[in-house]
Amino acid sequence: MKEKDLSIRIRSLLKEKNGIILAHNYQPPEIQDIADLTGDSLELSRKAAQTDAEVIVFAGVLFMAETASILCPEKTVILPRLDATCPMADMIDAEDIIDFKKDNPNVPVITYVNSTASVKAETDICCTSANCIKVVNSMDTDKVFMCPDQNLAKYSSKHTEKKVLFWEGYCPVHHNLRANDVINAKKEHPDALFLAHPECREEVLDIADVIASTSGMLKTVAKSQYQEFIIGTESGIIYPMQKLALDKKFYDPGKKLICPNMKKTGLNDVLAALETMENIVKIPEDIRIKALSAVKEMIKITG
Ligand code: SF4
Repeated sequence: MKEKDLSIRIRSLLKEKNGIILAHNYQPPEIQDIADLTGDSLELSRKAAQTDAEVIVFAGVLFMAETASILCPEKTVILPRLDATCPMADMIDAEDIIDFKKDNPNVPVITYVNSTASVKAETDICCTSANCIKVVNSMDTDKVFMCPDQNLAKYSSKHTEKKVLFWEGYCPVHHNLRANDVINAKKEHPDALFLAHPECREEVLDIADVIASTSGMLKTVAKSQYQEFIIGTESGIIYPMQKLALDKKFYDPGKKLICPNMKKTGLNDVLAALETMENIVKIPEDIRIKALSAVKEMIKITG
């Protein structure tokens, strides 16, 4: 089927089933174009919870569909490709957190939303890349533990007096970017502003002009006087940036920032998932309640 016909069929099925498509900022352009909402993972799930849609098709990776299921238990959440997982989320499991808590009963566990539902469920509080510093500083202990991303933890530790213990997980995509890639990109584009995601290594963040989440980067691009940007996050974000600022230029440093899992979902997969309604992601209620509590703790602090 041609792209246009696929899109027509998908929209018709969505109408029939009262469904919406959520697409993460890193998804391929054709998926972002057909989506009802685009954005970062938590933002999408929170917005979806406010709609009256009964079916949510989450074009992203598994932990994102899990988060939608945690926040929208009455809705049917579908992940078009069940094999679209996040290697960083899979670097830690619930048992690891339970073990840590046994050994460190007074150290709060702060879990990045890029994690599985069962890890969130064992956690005291969640955080995002945008609010991690606020969450860390809100804890009434002098020591915290952050997981699964070591880079987010190291970044947070630079903005707090607290001792930040961390799990040594990492996003293979962001971790792959090195300072030298950025230095070379800056030489090639001397007038560009370098935006880096906090999942990048410390050596990369040290030379960033702006450190921001994907939503923060989009806001920066929209407001900035700069005309050129080097983008230190998954390159899929360049598509919505370009739509937001047609006259500006965006560069991918080193051309290595591609997450294969984020690129798995095609229009064919979205259509098949809606036709079969088979790829449902549903979190068991006991885990969901505990994971939701960690998300709510974060929302209490950050709004
Ligand atoms: S970009 Fe990194 S954190 Fe995001 S899904 Fe891919 S591996 Fe996971």
